Amino acid sequence: MSVFDELAGQERVVAQLRGALAGAMTHAWLFTGPPGSGRSVAARAFAAALLCENGGCGHCPSCRQVRAGTHADLLLVRPEGLSYGVRQTRDLVLKAAGAPSGGRWLVVLFEDADRCTEQAANALLKAIEEPAPRTVWLLCAPSAEDLVTTIRSRCRVMTLRIPPSDAVAKVLTERDGIDPAAALAAARAAQGHIGRARRLATDAEAAKRRAAVLRVPVQATSLGPALAAAASLVKTAEDEAKAMTEQLDEPEREKLRQAFGEGSTGKGVAKAMRGMTGAMKDLEDRQKSRATRVKRDTLDGALLDLAAFYRDVFMVQLNADVELANADRADDLRRIAAGSTPEATLHRIQAIMRCRERLTLNVAPLLAVEEMTISLSRS
Ligand SMILES: [Zn+2]
Repeated sequence: MSVFDELAGQERVVAQLRGALAGAMTHAWLFTGPPGSGRSVAARAFAAALLCENGGCGHCPSCRQVRAGTHADLLLVRPEGLSYGVRQTRDLVLKAAGAPSGGRWLVVLFEDADRCTEQAANALLKAIEEPAPRTVWLLCAPSAEDLVTTIRSRCRVMTLRIPPSDAVAKVLTERDGIDPAAALAAARAAQGHIGRARRLATDAEAAKRRAAVLRVPVQATSLGPALAAAASLVKTAEDEAKAMTEQLDEPEREKLRQAFGEGSTGKGVAKAMRGMTGAMKDLEDRQKSRATRVKRDTLDGALLDLAAFYRDVFMVQLNADVELANADRADDLRRIAAGSTPEATLHRIQAIMRCRERLTLNVAPLLAVEEMTISLSRS
């Protein structure tokens, strides 16, 4: 076992990371790859390998602490809102300038570094230009182009690929004990996104929501059903986002209350309570911003599922010999393929992509999705 075992289908990157452990250390790394390729998983495995005495054995206390995110020499940054500000970045840079408490390195793992504001990126640049001698920066972003040139030119870039379905299925089977056939079906449906594949295979609700999304092509045959499909698509995404954020919100509020000693009495309590009100407001603002992001990401995920369905339709129409993401929906695929032309299918995929684009421009979700399902209903 090694911490690198979880990196499905990334043999080339793993070889480079292992090589780097033996040589002179590069102080700034950038992990890129499409959503689900496992860039933060790769960065975390590398962090574990840097902090472990045995190069990332996967089972020593250090490796376990990295996995749990509690290692004293690992600074874990995960922007929860839509952007990461300059104040937070300055705090981080200050912490990163310190020395490791125990081992050789202090590792800063910065997920979604592309969410840095311009000012935040400038603050970050200084730290990466002149890193503390024992600090290693691991940045993650969808692509190198998502970061300003000045930062990415100082990083060693590791590019992950979308892992093949069988590699994802292998991890699900070996790590999570999922039945091989179910693991392969989930890996195909999730198109190489390992976290999503795991959810599909283990969470009945997630599988149900996917089924609801894939009913859209079958339902949206004329205007009325198209509008109904849009409403249900948006609602499904909102429900999923709500389920995800509610799980996180209340424990965070509870932790804050405990930190301020709610319920205790004595000197200074009134003052502390006033401090808590402000901190609670901050927390709620962050939670709201996170809820917005999760809602947007979830709807986008549903649209990508839909696009993958029509990509499959297109492949069936062309008689192409490729692996279908929705092999479990073969009947629907064949029926829709037979009832339209490849050109119409391409137009539908374009309508989905246009909808995604409009959502990033803050068009009201229902409006953008209705426009899309109406386009889908035209043959
Ligand atoms: Zn270890």
